[in-house]
Amino acid sequence: MRGLKILLAFVALVIAMPEPATGRQPAPDPAKAPAAKLAKELTSEQTADPANGPAAEPAPQPAPEPAKAASAQEPATISDIVDKIIRQEQAEVQMLRQYSPLVETYIQNLRADKQLGEVPNGDKYFLGRANLANGIELEPLERATSVKHKLFGGWGDFFSTQYVPEGFLQMIYVDAYGFDRSHYKIEYVRREFLGEVRCLVFDVDPVRKDDKGRFVGRIWVEDQDYHIVRFNGAYGGSSLISNYFNFDSWRTNTGKNLWLPSFIYSEEGNAKDPKTKNLGFKAFRAQTRLWGYNLGQSGEEQELSKVLIESRLPVRDQTQSADDYSPYQSERSWGRQAEDNVMDRLEREGLLAPHGDVDKVLETVVANLEVTNNLDIEPEVRCRVMMTSTLESFSVGHTIVLSRGLVDVLPDEASLAAILAHELGHVVLGHRMDTQFGFLNRVRFDEKETFRHFYFGRTPQEEQAAKQKGMELLKNSPYNDQPGSSQLFLQALKSRSKEIPNLISPHLGDRVATSWAIASAVFSVRPVDAKTTSNSNAISALPLGGRIKVDPWNDQLHLLKAKPSGDLPETERMPFQITPIMFYLTRKAGEDLSIEVVGAVPPPAADNGDTKR
Ligand SMILES: [Zn+2]
Repeated sequence: MRGLKILLAFVALVIAMPEPATGRQPAPDPAKAPAAKLAKELTSEQTADPANGPAAEPAPQPAPEPAKAASAQEPATISDIVDKIIRQEQAEVQMLRQYSPLVETYIQNLRADKQLGEVPNGDKYFLGRANLANGIELEPLERATSVKHKLFGGWGDFFSTQYVPEGFLQMIYVDAYGFDRSHYKIEYVRREFLGEVRCLVFDVDPVRKDDKGRFVGRIWVEDQDYHIVRFNGAYGGSSLISNYFNFDSWRTNTGKNLWLPSFIYSEEGNAKDPKTKNLGFKAFRAQTRLWGYNLGQSGEEQELSKVLIESRLPVRDQTQSADDYSPYQSERSWGRQAEDNVMDRLEREGLLAPHGDVDKVLETVVANLEVTNNLDIEPEVRCRVMMTSTLESFSVGHTIVLSRGLVDVLPDEASLAAILAHELGHVVLGHRMDTQFGFLNRVRFDEKETFRHFYFGRTPQEEQAAKQKGMELLKNSPYNDQPGSSQLFLQALKSRSKEIPNLISPHLGDRVATSWAIASAVFSVRPVDAKTTSNSNAISALPLGGRIKVDPWNDQLHLLKAKPSGDLPETERMPFQITPIMFYLTRKAGEDLSIEVVGAVPPPAADNGDTKR
């Protein structure tokens, strides 16, 4: 018998919110060090005892290791360093040409709210694949082909507004066409740690003030190979955007010498500022995420190593047991195969994370529900996470899928259990998936067609039945004792749903809106724990992106290890809202991908007729 497991990883953590990013953060003047000072700092550091960490600047974390770059070619002056940065950034632009990551942009318009400051007031969602070989090119993954998708507003709608997806994608580059000394003035500011990565900070300004579209702002450069790892500012010069369109762009280290654009926060205007209205646009905040850089390569590699490992295992003696399949077993394993085909397909497209840590967390909660309900489900229930920010859940056979966005905003384990109980309801009731996907040709289609081919929503009858079943499962579970938080979550979602229609529009499955009724139904039959609901410190839902860290190279997900930040005033809780995110940057040591990756020739894009990547 399996026992109950308590998930320490899934506590109601809240990430400490940084100050909203502004275009220019003027540096404290004394920090504007002359070249000699920096050179001295760098030199003294090479000889310093690494155990004492960097001597010159206070750092949040001690340096994990002495700078590897302390080689014979260590640049001696600011000017040398700037040259290196420029060369590295130009190489970055070239290197990125070989990739076609997925790009997701989510935008929330804001309005002023007396109590809460700014709250969402309408939203937009875009999901597409970039083709960086030709600069900034984006192919949408979803088309307004069905009724279901009308809510998204469609592709044409994007162009008719100020939100052009390519505009957000552009923010992965400081300046793809002219980041050099003839166009930019680059001035050293200070040193600073971003997470555990020691950085040099520089202010960047166009040489000519009237040079339109040039970057104005600040860059953070890691001090081993001089990659720009973060830049914060705006593209200046254009009359409308010069003061307002700010962004904060982050890169993630996914291997030696490989820093990939992964997250961009941007904002324009302020709902409370009359100037914004006068300029003729609504204030907004937006987040752009990139992932799936290594799609297609990783899957095959993993497959091969699996085969290699299996071939090393002793071959089982077939005569020892009766191994033929009964018709029931065949039917079951056909269903499992269909599930596997669907999941493989979604994973290869970068829409589903590879099996990993977060799945295990979800599976533990499902196991808790099963144990307390005396369920023994065969084949066992598996959980997977979709990469998108939209809030949705669905089940395909015995596989339950929750979106990253949904897991991200759930305040605690009890709320997670409420969602999983509903999906488990579908599984227990044997709601069938379309087993046509057991035929491999049925999962071969152009990736733009994914959302048309795969749709796992349920009939109203099935929904009703699963709702009932989910309630039962939850009642018998340990989560029945903690209804407060999941109730708060569902209430918050309900009250915000009109303002964030695109965030709650599913691509593949049930609206969480459908599932939420379950939990509130369960809990409304019993008196609500007065302590929980009157507790003004309870968090109803986290801001977007509050819980899961994404590896943009291999799509692996990990739960963030941030400490709960204690009580937050209501104005700082921002359920379902876009906030700036401060990344705790780390170096991925030991995995030298630079040979295969940086030196790799871009795979021929279209010569084999296979457009599925
Ligand atoms: Zn459902």
